[in-house]
Amino acid sequence: MQELFKDKVALVTGAGSGIGRAAALLFAEEGAKVVVSGRTIENGDETVRLIKEVGGEAVFVKADVSKQEDVERLVAETVGKYQALDCALNNAGISESHDSGTITCSEEEWRKIIDINLKGVWLCMRSEIPQMLKQGKGAIVNVSSFAGLTASKLGLVAYSGSKHGVIGLTKTSAVEFAGQGIRINAICPGATMTAMLKKRITKPEEKERVASMNPMHRIASPREIAEAAVWLCSDRASFVTGIAMPVDGGQVIF
Ligand code: NAD
Repeated sequence: MQELFKDKVALVTGAGSGIGRAAALLFAEEGAKVVVSGRTIENGDETVRLIKEVGGEAVFVKADVSKQEDVERLVAETVGKYQALDCALNNAGISESHDSGTITCSEEEWRKIIDINLKGVWLCMRSEIPQMLKQGKGAIVNVSSFAGLTASKLGLVAYSGSKHGVIGLTKTSAVEFAGQGIRINAICPGATMTAMLKKRITKPEEKERVASMNPMHRIASPREIAEAAVWLCSDRASFVTGIAMPVDGGQVIF
């Protein structure tokens, strides 16, 4: 167990799988008390079990990030359990399961994706920041995507719109709270081997095509993305705020 987050409380949304689970584990390995949040109890419980297996401290709180009352309760339960909220990784997100263009995206799909990916991040920050203001310090990382920085050829119109929005929201909030001890950044992962990507990769040639989107010619592991997110949440990034950090094997410079 390391000391980077000793006596710190970290909240991770969408922590029942993929990048969120990897980050929750990493926070715990670095000494944080972790609030594992998500919509599915079994997945959240499994993340808590994995954390406890390595000697960490964690609790699961069920919450849907698109619902204000859930997010308010999530932060209240975090503070109730651990008396603080030092770091938040607003990671929960969804994407279109099939190609969806400007004309073909349905209004229902648009609303669902924007509600979770963009409104969800805003709702989380709206509940997290007041607690951090009380403490005079805090760090937030919002999960955007390479598709929030550049055009995506993957046919993800609502997803791309939501992830561009996450960056705008991150930068605006970062400026608003920089003078009050709160750092707010975004990470922009490239293709990462999680359930979200696996849904879209049904043939070996698709895996090859996705890997070739970056000059490293490979797909990231969730842990590689978590490392960047956890660093940004840590005091080692104490002078970093308002950035949208690509973690993508060079994809956006390619
Ligand atoms: P994932 O599907 O494994 O994880 C997403 C998690 O969010 C799941 O546990 C899911 O249950 C949870 N979630 C979805 N809607 C929710 C809601 N309304 N409330 C609470 N939790 C909810 O996929 P992942 O790749 O680990 O995704 C994590 C984040 O990374 C997402 O924001 C995604 O957009 C982003 N991202 C992923 C990739 C990739 O290639 N995998 C690339 C760029 C960005």
